[in-house]
Amino acid sequence: MRPKLMRLIAGDDPRQILRMRRYFMALGASAMALALFGLAGWAGVIDSATLISASALTLALAGAFFLVFRCGWNLRFGDPSLTAPMTVAALASLLFVISRAGQGHVILLPLIPVVYLFGVFRLDSRTMLKITAGASAGYAAILAFNAPGQVPDGDYRLAVLYWAVFTAVAAFFSMLGGHISDLRRRVSAGKHKLQRAFDRIEHMASHDSLTGVLNRRRVLEILAQERSRCLRFGTLFSICLIDIDHFKNVNDTYGHAAGDAVLRGFAGAISATLRDTDHLGRLGGEEFVAVFSGTLIDGAIIGAERMRSAVVRAHYPGAPNELQITLSAGVACYRSGESIEELLARADVALYGAKNAGRDCVVSAAA
Ligand code: GH3
Ligand code: MG
Ligand code: MG
Repeated sequence: MRPKLMRLIAGDDPRQILRMRRYFMALGASAMALALFGLAGWAGVIDSATLISASALTLALAGAFFLVFRCGWNLRFGDPSLTAPMTVAALASLLFVISRAGQGHVILLPLIPVVYLFGVFRLDSRTMLKITAGASAGYAAILAFNAPGQVPDGDYRLAVLYWAVFTAVAAFFSMLGGHISDLRRRVSAGKHKLQRAFDRIEHMASHDSLTGVLNRRRVLEILAQERSRCLRFGTLFSICLIDIDHFKNVNDTYGHAAGDAVLRGFAGAISATLRDTDHLGRLGGEEFVAVFSGTLIDGAIIGAERMRSAVVRAHYPGAPNELQITLSAGVACYRSGESIEELLARADVALYGAKNAGRDCVVSAAA
């Protein structure tokens, strides 16, 4: 069925859509069974009263399940796909027709495994066996009460054989079905695990492990993309090269671990000042670069100043309280046509200017 129509019937939840799709598959199988019942009526295996009752029962059950899925009442159940109730309903309808089909009922028995196939994808062996126990008891009752009509010459040994074959096939399908649904569950769990591992690897490949901001490779990729976008659409961008002042002193005075703590706190403090469309990457050591998308030099200077004051006010868990951290920054706006190396070099000259101007300040590169 078309996705749009399916959404109209089942709503937007992809899981409800999947359940509704499965329901329609079951509905198709029910239509096939009804057609076969019709043929059975035509062949004289069942009478017309049975055919009418079976059709009414099947349609009523199909309508009831449709209503349950359509209104979302299925979500109140442990298994919202309602596979077990639908399997039981289909078996009950089939057993009803079988009970009325006399000796010709054997021709309808192969429909039992078709019903079981729907259970295979969702139900475990235990549930399938419970359903089998019910179906087997039902078939035993039919044979016991109708024995003279259900088997040739009313031979009870034949009735026992029919029942044993029915029960053995159903039990076999239950075990096999349980095994298949178990496999399916394991494959699905494995797929989720793999996806999580893939997401983690992707994150590790693009982020700096110490500070959590983008790594050098990723931020250079972003700069290349910004450059391409600028050359194609004319959207300008700016960068801000940031370097922690006298960071070597932090390491030398308080140790490397305190230095790492400062790097983490520093990255957190400056990234908190950025907008969603901006990016922050660690180029190496205590040097970072912020990328301001669609921003000219004036906006970049404002962004850099915001970072500068955030760093002064920031707390650095794991580093001594008396520590006063400042940054120097060089900002540059992309000049159409220049390479990323040239842009970074201009920002670096500006950063050098900030260091020479006494640090804790922002200097912009010549346009
Ligand atoms: P300036 O103000 O001129 O930038 O002085 P500075 O001391 O910050 O600059 P310098 O380049 O001399 O020192 C950078 C220091 O950063 C040296 C290096 O040991 C330290 N560093 C680089 N990477 C890390 C790191 O991952 N963790 C720690 N704790 N220190 C690092
Ligand atoms: Mg430094
Ligand atoms: Mg440095």
